[in-house]
Amino acid sequence: MAVPLRRKLAHCSFCGVNELAAVPLITGTGTAICVDCAYAGIAAVEGRRRARQASGRLTPSMLVARLDEHVIAQDTAKRALSVAVYNHFKRIGRIGPGERSTRLAKSNILLAGPSGTGKTLLAETLARTLDVPFVVADVTSITQAGYAGEDTESIFRRLVTAADGDIAAAQHGIVFLDEVDKLARREGGTLDVSGEGVQQSLLKVLEGTQVSLDPRGGAGGGPAGGETRRLDTSDILFIAGGAFVGLDEIAAERGGSRGIGFAADIGGERVPAPEVEPQDLVSFGLLPEFVGRMPVVVQLQPLGLAELRRIVSEPSGSLLSQYEELFRLDGHVLSFTDEALVAVATAAHGRRTGARGLRAIMESTLLGLMYDSPDWDPGRRLVVEAADVRAAADTAPRPPVPAQTSPPAEAGRNTEHTERRAPLPRVVQAAAPDHPV
Ligand code: ADP
Repeated sequence: MAVPLRRKLAHCSFCGVNELAAVPLITGTGTAICVDCAYAGIAAVEGRRRARQASGRLTPSMLVARLDEHVIAQDTAKRALSVAVYNHFKRIGRIGPGERSTRLAKSNILLAGPSGTGKTLLAETLARTLDVPFVVADVTSITQAGYAGEDTESIFRRLVTAADGDIAAAQHGIVFLDEVDKLARREGGTLDVSGEGVQQSLLKVLEGTQVSLDPRGGAGGGPAGGETRRLDTSDILFIAGGAFVGLDEIAAERGGSRGIGFAADIGGERVPAPEVEPQDLVSFGLLPEFVGRMPVVVQLQPLGLAELRRIVSEPSGSLLSQYEELFRLDGHVLSFTDEALVAVATAAHGRRTGARGLRAIMESTLLGLMYDSPDWDPGRRLVVEAADVRAAADTAPRPPVPAQTSPPAEAGRNTEHTERRAPLPRVVQAAAPDHPV
């Protein structure tokens, strides 16, 4: 086809391909799209519609089933959270059949429980299940208006970014407010003006307000060169999380009835948790208005040894499966003996940081192997034993020291190590026949 040279070639506004290419262009007034990009757009919209339809059929029990795939234990919290999330998305018309005849009040959720027990993981897994944008905001980094630091507006800019710039999707998102217990005014302490000020600044957004997203504020805030966009927070679900150390005692002093969960797993003795009521959170030091906007309070329990052991290998995408995959990519087969997995859990339990300690212990156990094994011929079977974990756990709190010159471990021999580095677990030369590499 002869094309007059002086005419500017029409091109696809998305991928840039021009009209001389084999793919047909659909042209409009001053714009064009190639058929490939048009199909890609249709597929994206279709995918989103299917995901929305699928999330529209979710019930609390289905949400719990999904949480079970990723989160170990916390059964009471999973049920309470799933019902609260189901009701929230029913309220905003995202799930459930039927027309709403009564205006349903907004119910944000507060998760109280020790660090590293799955608060963020629960919220994130729900957001993924419901296919809604999700952000975590550490409230200790939020400052009152006029001070340097993250402000509440920037949380919503990040939410819009998580929604690929789609304000409507962001307005149905989930914001996880982490460390809200740090905003409390502690009894006997000095008045923590900034914590209280941050609570004040959150009140409006928790309830539902219009937030202006200043385009100068960063990505996702507005179109390039563009005008200020507004986001309504009324239908955003806020899940607040915090360790609330001492809250159990406050609830017990009030005479709170003992719940069905267990508050402590100390010395093998498990003590039932008193049920926390909103007034306990006020006694803890949160503003009554703040607590009033978090009507659903869900308690998480400390993780015991058995639960930590399960977390290493059972959840979908578990730590163990991630490390196995890392070694598989180098052509080796990694495995832990059962005793080694118990040793990982035991070391993490001793640190009292919930499941947070597990990764550091796995990392320091495997550091030496991860350093050396890429230099080896593929096909080795690497077996980690309890002694390897225990030796590495001692080094885990220190910053990892990269292994320098040690030769690869010989078959069937545990490497002696005198330097402060992770030990090399036993290495069997050939891959096991049942584990083809
Ligand atoms: P927090 O309660 O402090 O919000 P997180 O949810 O961030 O804790 O968990 C910290 C780490 O521990 C994450 O890697 C998470 O996957 C893991 N984890 C914590 N609790 C559980 C649990 N109950 N089941 C599975 N993994 C967990």
